[in-house]
Amino acid sequence: MKKTNWYFLLPVLACAFLPGRSQGQAKPAADLVITNAKVWTGDKSLPIAQAVAVLGDRIVAVGSNAAADAWRGPNTKVIDAGGKLLLPGFNDAHVHFVSGGQQLDNVQLNDATSPQEFARRIVERVKITPKGEWILGGNWDETKWNPPNMPTKDLIDAATPDTPVFVSRYDGHMGLANSVALRLAGITAKTPDPPGGQIVRDAKGNPTGALKDAATDYIDKVIPELTHDQRMQVVKRALAHAASLGVTSVQHMEAGYADIAVYSELLRRGELTTRIYAAPLITHVDDHAKIGIGRAFGGPYLRIGALKAYADGSLGSGTAYFYEPFLNQGNNRGLLSDEMQPISLMRDRMMKADEASLQICTHAIGDEGISTILDLYTDVIRAHGDADRRFRIEHAQHMAAKDFERFAQLHVIASVQPYHAIDDGRFAEDHIGHDRASRTYAFRTFLDHGVRLAFGTDWEVAPLNPLLGVYAAVTRATLDGKNPNGWFPEQKLTVAEAVEAYTMGSAYAEFQEKEKGSITPGKLADMVLLSDDIFSIVPTKIHDAQVLKTIVGGRVVWDASTSTRERSQ
Ligand SMILES: [Zn+2]
Repeated sequence: MKKTNWYFLLPVLACAFLPGRSQGQAKPAADLVITNAKVWTGDKSLPIAQAVAVLGDRIVAVGSNAAADAWRGPNTKVIDAGGKLLLPGFNDAHVHFVSGGQQLDNVQLNDATSPQEFARRIVERVKITPKGEWILGGNWDETKWNPPNMPTKDLIDAATPDTPVFVSRYDGHMGLANSVALRLAGITAKTPDPPGGQIVRDAKGNPTGALKDAATDYIDKVIPELTHDQRMQVVKRALAHAASLGVTSVQHMEAGYADIAVYSELLRRGELTTRIYAAPLITHVDDHAKIGIGRAFGGPYLRIGALKAYADGSLGSGTAYFYEPFLNQGNNRGLLSDEMQPISLMRDRMMKADEASLQICTHAIGDEGISTILDLYTDVIRAHGDADRRFRIEHAQHMAAKDFERFAQLHVIASVQPYHAIDDGRFAEDHIGHDRASRTYAFRTFLDHGVRLAFGTDWEVAPLNPLLGVYAAVTRATLDGKNPNGWFPEQKLTVAEAVEAYTMGSAYAEFQEKEKGSITPGKLADMVLLSDDIFSIVPTKIHDAQVLKTIVGGRVVWDASTSTRERSQ
């Protein structure tokens, strides 16, 4: 793979513009020219163009075929786009990149449509799993079963006497452990529920195997960590998967230090093909404050300087934190996370993070969870004064009507995942009723209030494919087919708004809007060539469009005509 590095090119460029040029030296030739494309630039000063020229890892010209041709030299690689649509590369503002990569190899339970099928797939997996090795992942979804009862360990215990199993619910806020896993974790009828978590129990008080939120920590502690080499393999798979989907940047929420070490090694080798902004948990704030590195520190391929925090759980697990109870769940109105117990603990950490100029990205889903985080953000801003901090709320799923205005005033970014809207839209009204559901993933209302949107997927919770996200934001057609004209259709976005949220919006959310997010001279040459013009085809076909080429920093990292596709989730 050709490795081009802008910094090495700088001296060359400088020479080209020195007096030597008047002695007949030509301007440097482009390394790559893409001609005959329909370029949707995302740049208001030139929204549509025909061609792009790239020098090193940067875009140097955008315009007509003739304008780009002027940059051609004998060694310029030329891509004839054949009239296809060229977009800025997609930037996924919220992924769990390593667990996503792992999920590509794990047992697949998401499309299991009955508890029997769920159990059958785990039993099949046991047969090819060495004794004692864990079976993990899965992303099961009991709402696809009839009746939609949470699974229990009884489904799988008989077939897994020597194999620890801990398979996750697709939202990541719940998992099912078999008896071997419970034993290894020391969970018995006597184990108390931890703050911010729940051990689900049967009528006799015995654990059913289902563990919610902080209770999953008991199991996480006994699952062996990936070795560095295993993690490296997982990340390589994730990078290949991202490239195949036109994802040129990701923002890794909850990145572990071991993950960053792998990214850093790949960076040194010139093998990162996706740009990464890594946000470790805010529980590590002291480490980051000590180093003294602030928001968006690093280089074009790897940055740190953001911290991920948790306010609450999820809608489907009944742990998102609401002002009013869930319907049909007694008095349950969700759980504040363990990081919020007490709330002053979170406030102290946020103050520390902000003092150290670190960006804060907080997961908040229920209306009271979101509201409480806005209160805390207000406290931080009052204490430290105005600054360009770009606080984020991840998911911002169920808004209280009173909070849209406040969101805008505090300049908080709504980092949202449109796929969740068509997924949770299947059952949200059953859980919280019509009124609260009307402010669920309220993308239009956010934009109307002047709130900036950043789009992402939450992979491995949802598929990494950005075209599914664009499709979801534009159609709001729930996955169960029950809302073909859109679930709360007044919240639909246009294709252009959705693509912008997935490119410029996400770039802004990581302080990189001057470096990427649009096809503009001077910016990094991150682009994706699609098989179809998603602006003109019927919206229901958007997710059928294929990624023909993915270009990162001028390098073609995915070419549909020559690359083999990773099995998609
Ligand atoms: Zn997430």
